[in-house]
Amino acid sequence: MSEDKSKYPKQENFEGNLDKKTKNSIINFIRLSFRRSPQVQECLKKSIHPTVKGPRGGKMYQCAKCKEGFSQKEVQIDHIEAVVPKGKKQVDMSLDEYAERLFCSVENLQVLDKECHKVKSQEERMNKTK
Ligand SMILES: [Zn+2]
Repeated sequence: MSEDKSKYPKQENFEGNLDKKTKNSIINFIRLSFRRSPQVQECLKKSIHPTVKGPRGGKMYQCAKCKEGFSQKEVQIDHIEAVVPKGKKQVDMSLDEYAERLFCSVENLQVLDKECHKVKSQEERMNKTK
């Protein structure tokens, strides 16, 4: 099998040689697979609204911030401690580091509706520039 090795030589510093666009598309793909992760499923399960039911008795999810009930389409999974830490930029993170922080334990995840999520993300962005 040594022939195969020379055909596909191991790339030195694979990640360092990635252009920004490729790195971002890998990150997008990692994020996509995160949405199907067991952590996300568990977080959603934990956040089913105890009293509010959707049309025809369907499940509704409770926003961790405003406590209102929302359909699954209206909620997003939020990292309580953001994936990109304060004072850091996504471009400065390695793929390993990013994936590790994205696929955090379920304790660091919460359900927010889109509006509350937007507000929290804006606050995080503002804190970063300080
Ligand atoms: Zn909310």
